[in-house]
Amino acid sequence: MFDEKRWNPANIKKHSASDESDAYKNSLSYKDMSVCKSCHNIYHNKRWVKDDELYKSILKKKENINYTICPACLKIKTKFYNGVVELSGGFLFEHKSDILNLINNTVEKADYIDPLEKIENIEENEKEKIIKIYTTSEDLAQRIGRNIERAYKGEVDYSFSERDLLLRVYWKREA
Ligand SMILES: [Zn+2]
Repeated sequence: MFDEKRWNPANIKKHSASDESDAYKNSLSYKDMSVCKSCHNIYHNKRWVKDDELYKSILKKKENINYTICPACLKIKTKFYNGVVELSGGFLFEHKSDILNLINNTVEKADYIDPLEKIENIEENEKEKIIKIYTTSEDLAQRIGRNIERAYKGEVDYSFSERDLLLRVYWKREA
């Protein structure tokens, strides 16, 4: 079992802001202008960006494009995740499409764009009335939980495992 302790929202920034704590960001060294072959994120000026214009200009050069895999896509590929949002309760499947839209909007919201924050997988279990959303970042899981609570009330709870750098978010609404 995870060594999970009660998670204090005031501490979360500290964890996510520390890139050294995220082995996936340091496991490979990337050349400037490397392109993720999976999502087309670009490594530029020591950070990952999503930039369609830059991507097009790299493609135009044609020769020697440096294809790689970005840390987020590496997590997806290896099924390593830093956030899990577990939604449950009778309300959920009655409002499923609205709730899933809200989740997608949370990922795309301009204020927060970080191309390494991605949803890895969404598991739906209609029989048990549970949806699980796996994310590449604990920040994204936190924002999804917060936005759902803001929009739909219900009960939300967080549990952070320091050892696994994993934030679990539980949201429930019965009716
Ligand atoms: Zn990628």
